[in-house]
Amino acid sequence: MTDVGALCHADMHAHFLLYGHYLRQGYSGAGRRWAPWGPLGNRLFLEHALAGQVHCVTFTVYVPAGRWFGVGAALRQIDTLDRVAAETGGRLTLARTGAQVRAIAASGRVAGVLAIEGGHALERDPSDLERLAARGVRMATLAHFVSSSLADVAACAYRPHGGLSHAGRDVVRRMGRLGMFPDVAHLSDAAIEQATVEAEGPVVSSHTGMRDLRDLPRNLGDAQARRIAATGGMIGILWFPPYLSDGFLGRDATIQTFLDHCCHAASVVGPGHVGIGTDMDALTWPPAGLRDHRDYPRVADGLRQRGFSAAEVDGILGRNYLRLLGDGGVASGP
Ligand SMILES: [Zn+2]
Repeated sequence: MTDVGALCHADMHAHFLLYGHYLRQGYSGAGRRWAPWGPLGNRLFLEHALAGQVHCVTFTVYVPAGRWFGVGAALRQIDTLDRVAAETGGRLTLARTGAQVRAIAASGRVAGVLAIEGGHALERDPSDLERLAARGVRMATLAHFVSSSLADVAACAYRPHGGLSHAGRDVVRRMGRLGMFPDVAHLSDAAIEQATVEAEGPVVSSHTGMRDLRDLPRNLGDAQARRIAATGGMIGILWFPPYLSDGFLGRDATIQTFLDHCCHAASVVGPGHVGIGTDMDALTWPPAGLRDHRDYPRVADGLRQRGFSAAEVDGILGRNYLRLLGDGGVASGP
């Protein structure tokens, strides 16, 4: 098979399902409708991905905190994505491995990879993890804006576990055995450190800024970044301006600010452990100079101008993530 890795850009974290599931919209532009927060989101389209050669999009299944949610909410969103993919006539196809992504990309289509955000889907019964893995979910966060019964978060002062709870450590270990990656985005520093100790495979921070450039607890510190890289994992740099720049609402953030974070991450962990996790359509907006997936080639140009080799640029734009996803659905090493 032709190696299309150089042409297969990837997004490690995107929120189409907030529209697709909760507003019942399609992924192809023809099927999209009005959204109440349109100016802030509604940027994920199949056509945009294809235009930017983003042949791998990670569709995040978001499960908020609350007793009414749980693994059922996650499974229903996955059902929606199956329906949406069918509506594209196969131009969007779900994939579990890097090899599957490459095959889908080689035929000019978009591969969807499943991830969970929130961790609340796993709170009731950690064995639900097996049900999610069976549906093809490759990574999951353990909490979001508020600490869950599994893990403490960065953004909230209520941190009852001092990192991960006993159940949280168990979930992290189980993920490795199931070929899933613990996603430590949103977690506290202590929880990140403990996850890298407990994990039996690579750990990922799918969408983050770098704290050294934008001092937020939610952003990744260099020490935590090195721990993640040491597991063979990856850091996805996001597009959300307030996490990239300290100007009011990040309004001064541009594509150059985003590239600053990419460069810093690469300087700390090496370009082989860096990727892009846009966080698009999570009530967010991109930095100036980036519209949506159509502008991945501008990111590639920017990285080349900053001295990265062609292979390093290919890696950050997608090849690193495909390597992480592996060829057999099991965790790949460093
Ligand atoms: Zn997030």
